[in-house]
Amino acid sequence: MPDPALLKRLEDAVEAAFDRQVAFLADLTRFKSLRGEEAPLQDWMARQLSARGYAVDRYTLADVPLEGSRGAAPVMDTDYGRAVQVVAAKRATNPTGRSLIIQGHVDVVPAGPASMWNTPPFEPVIRDGWMHGRGANDMKAGVSCMVFAADALAACGLEPTGDLYLQSVTEEESTGNGALSTLVRGYRADACLIPEPTNQALTRAHVGVIWFRLKVLGIPVHVARSETGTNAIVAAYKLIEALQAHTKAENERAKSHPRFRALKDPIKFNPGIIRGGDWGSSTPAWCEVDCRIGLLPGDDLAERRAAIEATVRQAAAGDGFLANNPPEVIWNGFMADGFVQEEGTEAEAVLGAVHQQVFGEPMPSRLGTGVNDTRFYGLYYDMPALCYGPKGEGSHAFDERTDLASVKRTTLAIAAFIADWCGVREQAPR
Ligand code: ZN
Repeated sequence: MPDPALLKRLEDAVEAAFDRQVAFLADLTRFKSLRGEEAPLQDWMARQLSARGYAVDRYTLADVPLEGSRGAAPVMDTDYGRAVQVVAAKRATNPTGRSLIIQGHVDVVPAGPASMWNTPPFEPVIRDGWMHGRGANDMKAGVSCMVFAADALAACGLEPTGDLYLQSVTEEESTGNGALSTLVRGYRADACLIPEPTNQALTRAHVGVIWFRLKVLGIPVHVARSETGTNAIVAAYKLIEALQAHTKAENERAKSHPRFRALKDPIKFNPGIIRGGDWGSSTPAWCEVDCRIGLLPGDDLAERRAAIEATVRQAAAGDGFLANNPPEVIWNGFMADGFVQEEGTEAEAVLGAVHQQVFGEPMPSRLGTGVNDTRFYGLYYDMPALCYGPKGEGSHAFDERTDLASVKRTTLAIAAFIADWCGVREQAPR
């Protein structure tokens, strides 16, 4: 538990820097860091962190051999030579404390039609204490927390007595390969904290996610004779319906899962992108549907993949056209295990004590029906991996926003967590 006098010093430091933190968050949100377009933001981040005295490792995913690593996901339509990752290290001289990785992702999902937003998605606006903008909540707010939490310690003249790593990664929304790359590159610590927007709750468990593309090919004819041709778009719908039925069965299975039986229908299936056809008066020759489906912690990815393939195969077998033109299933992203951060780690006890002190109540926990990056650290590299961050709304939706009051308190909680987990000492004069 943090010493109350230290907590007060940290609180004052967070408060004193908060206008700068809000400006930093607005700068982050202004970057249109869609998948494949994160490099300018990451370069900016590398400069920000190196100006703060961190040793900065800037590399791209093309520099790291991911293939064959546990948790690596297939990649399509993205140039990894431009997928910049940033790891900033503050290494303790004569370390006596525990080391810590704090990680945040800066990739954001597309905003959709800007006309559906009340404010332009990449022009952050503050209203009633909330900052609006795509990515402001998921998870640039958390990224600002990690940077300014460490700043608060420095502003108090303190330095961690264990190694501290701040990681700014990409690909969280599509593969997780950014997080994985940091581990393959060799970064390790005694714990990992990811300040995703959790409304100051600890994510006890999250589902896994598989991405796949359905590819259907048909024979185009003039629509006037459509009875002699086939329609790839209509055929693709049959596959979507079959996958919806499959999802229903998966959710039946979830009813006996030790964690996720607590939620109704935790397995979500989403046909997220559809394209197909070439002409309004030709039956479409092709259709592609990009899909996402969840799986449960403990599920075997290969088995879940086989179940998807079997569902598609069976649906195709019952369709006159598809039976002769078998649709393809292409794995095009997430191949993510679910993960449970079991109770009882020392890291959770430390974070829980800090939360209690900052928020005046026990730290709640939650179950995630979406995926996050903690699985890499926790499941494959055996670190306690805590997903805990500020409050917000509208991730992946219109009018995404983060609660700035919560951002401030969460920054303090993370600063106190660093102090308690790593230990601190008066900074050696430079
Ligand atoms: Zn996120």
